[in-house]
Amino acid sequence: MKKILLFWVMMFPFYVVSGQSSAVAEKVSETVYKIEVNRSVNVVAVIDGDGVLLYDTGYKGSGEAIEAAVKTFTQLPVKAVYNTHHHSDHTGSNAYFAERGVKIYATQKTIDKLQAADKMELWSLGENMNEWSDAHSGSDVTLYMNDEKVAVVGDMLFEERFPYIDTDAGGDVTVYLETQGEIISSLPADVKIIGGHGRVYTLEEYEALNSLLWETYDKVKELVMADESLEAIKKADPLVDYAHLEWGLVNKDKWVEIIYSSLR
Ligand SMILES: [Zn+2]
Repeated sequence: MKKILLFWVMMFPFYVVSGQSSAVAEKVSETVYKIEVNRSVNVVAVIDGDGVLLYDTGYKGSGEAIEAAVKTFTQLPVKAVYNTHHHSDHTGSNAYFAERGVKIYATQKTIDKLQAADKMELWSLGENMNEWSDAHSGSDVTLYMNDEKVAVVGDMLFEERFPYIDTDAGGDVTVYLETQGEIISSLPADVKIIGGHGRVYTLEEYEALNSLLWETYDKVKELVMADESLEAIKKADPLVDYAHLEWGLVNKDKWVEIIYSSLR
């Protein structure tokens, strides 16, 4: 048992469990850490002078675990939170930080969506971030930190799976894949890329994922252009070779639907 515990501590030096939530901090550069919450969603912490900037806040109830994970690498306080988009797995603990006097920043579209659900005070983002409309959630921000060679791209990157596209909120897969291409071409070759879910990517890996997703897109597009119905396309199973990209929210059929609705 002792051996196993020691192995665990050596493998996961920053592993923190708080209540129902867990948070693991991983150093990405001198001042940037990726904190994986509940083994599912990423928060990015940046040490900035006298405090820590957080990009996203994980699930509701994960605030304490995130703060504890930050304390494993710095004693500086969290001084600001930025939301990459409005989804609840990225903004769930906004209230936890707001209650502790931390200002939460987001795009106006994200603020409108969050405030429709909860009347908390939110602040508009500065100009140093890129806002992408109509790609993943209707309004997503990405950021490149030149000094650290680290990019924070939120859900514009899901590790090795079909991305979830929030079509109800204005997301569109064609725009999503084009936007990924734009982000890729704006970044230097030696960048480290932190997405909303999964491990840190190199530019090469991000490019490869984008190409793979375009491949799936083209396979479905071919059938849409041949005037096949959605049901017929699903039945033809054009993505049979891409089953490894399936996960709980987006299986092959759902991905076909997302592409179909963008093209029709
Ligand atoms: Zn999302």
